[in-house]
Amino acid sequence: MTRSIRPLVAGNWKMNGLKADLAIAAEVAKGYDAEFAGAVDLAICPPASLLYPTSVALIGSRIATGGQDCSTQASGAFTGEISAAMLADAGGTFAIVGHSERRTLHGESNATVKAKAEAAQKARIVPIVCVGETKDEREAGKALAMVKKQLRGSLPEGSTAATLVVAYEPVWAIGTGLTPTAADVAEMHEAIRTELARLLGKAAAAGVRLLYGGSVKPSNAAELMNVANVDGALVGGASLKAGDFLAIARACA
Ligand code: PEP
Repeated sequence: MTRSIRPLVAGNWKMNGLKADLAIAAEVAKGYDAEFAGAVDLAICPPASLLYPTSVALIGSRIATGGQDCSTQASGAFTGEISAAMLADAGGTFAIVGHSERRTLHGESNATVKAKAEAAQKARIVPIVCVGETKDEREAGKALAMVKKQLRGSLPEGSTAATLVVAYEPVWAIGTGLTPTAADVAEMHEAIRTELARLLGKAAAAGVRLLYGGSVKPSNAAELMNVANVDGALVGGASLKAGDFLAIARACA
């Protein structure tokens, strides 16, 4: 944790969730507001079909909502795309961009991720820009170099602590139950903070929230969240269980 930074725990529901699952958001809100709304920020990023109803379900709570992606474009003939302004219109304040599933399954390059992050910022949506190495890259000793390259290519110039969140998500840790050691996370997050200072300046870098993501669970959250320069978590599978998501938030608070 970075003492001066308010942590953020964001849940990525991926392509999961029907209307009935709004009950999960309501349960999270109940626990969050009662226990630690003052100590940690929470966001839920449901599938696009549920963004508006989730935002409505969370009215009165301090939990934010967000999209899992956004278009590089503002509007027009882009069938199937959702613009950042549409996310904002549906109550969203965050957009995950550059998730490894988008980079891998949809061939998104660093340039595309950067354009999406810029589009989000233009609509006053805070992009959660995901970066992370593959298993082969880690085993080849190239993890730090790969992540720095992704940062250089994916982050909008002029981003500040208020307009950017970065999530380090090792590809091999997402949905696998595997996690890096605390020492590896510490090394990577320090390197990310240093690279941010080079790219955005010291003041911005000092305040940007750096989330760790990849198989975060209640059982490992305390260890991972206590690592220096880890300012919260991006949570996939465990965010679909209200009790688990709250337990992870508790580890940050
Ligand atoms: C994710 O999809 O961003 C993620 C971190 O997934 P999981 O927590 O399930 O590994």
